[in-house]
Amino acid sequence: MAVTIDRRTLLRGVGTAALVVGFGTNGAWVTQAAATGRFDELPDLDGTVHLDVPTRDRYAQDLGRHTTLRPDAVLVPASAQDVQKMVRFCVRRGIPVSMRGQGHSTHGQGLTAGLLVDSRGLRTIHRIGRDSAEVDPGVWWRELVDASIPHA
Ligand SMILES: Cc1cc2nc3c(=O)[nH]c(=O)nc-3n(C[C@H](O)[C@H](O)[C@H](O)COP(=O)(O)OP(=O)(O)OC[C@H]3O[C@@H](n4cnc5c(N)ncnc54)[C@H](O)[C@@H]3O)c2cc1C
Repeated sequence: MAVTIDRRTLLRGVGTAALVVGFGTNGAWVTQAAATGRFDELPDLDGTVHLDVPTRDRYAQDLGRHTTLRPDAVLVPASAQDVQKMVRFCVRRGIPVSMRGQGHSTHGQGLTAGLLVDSRGLRTIHRIGRDSAEVDPGVWWRELVDASIPHA
């Protein structure tokens, strides 16, 4: 069957295609604007909020790959204040927040459709004592072990 399409319909289709970025969690198409509109007027941050789809896709799965959930935004904090500011921001707007470590859990525990916070942005070892250490949540175990050797 032949299908005809007028110029206006074609242009409308092309315009829509340019905006569509993928499927939402409920299977509906979502646009860049729909995905990121909740994150306008961000507070001043030391770190970065990523809104681009490739970055968000990198945080959309856990290790088991049983669950896929693309966050609307990813915060890579450079200070604890960044986390505080963005949690307050999200509470005001009703946006869910999830913390992510290494993403090694296997049933989507660390995934969210809202703001995902990559704890790896905070990886300072503040203090190593005789029987305890004070570290940021993004510090790897092997980094702490290496840093603790001179204290042994
Ligand atoms: C192959 C394999 C082997 C494993 N072996 C072991 C084992 O031997 N021993 C063992 O104990 N476990 C083991 N696990 C389980 C794994 O260690 C846990 O799933 C652990 O939570 C993974 O840490 P993560 O940083 O990757 O957490 P993520 O998967 O990133 O997050 C897990 C949960 O913790 C929350 N979270 C992460 N960071 C923070 C934070 N800073 N503050 C508050 N909440 C946070 C997340 O929101 C999420 O709900 C294994 C898992 C796999 C896949």
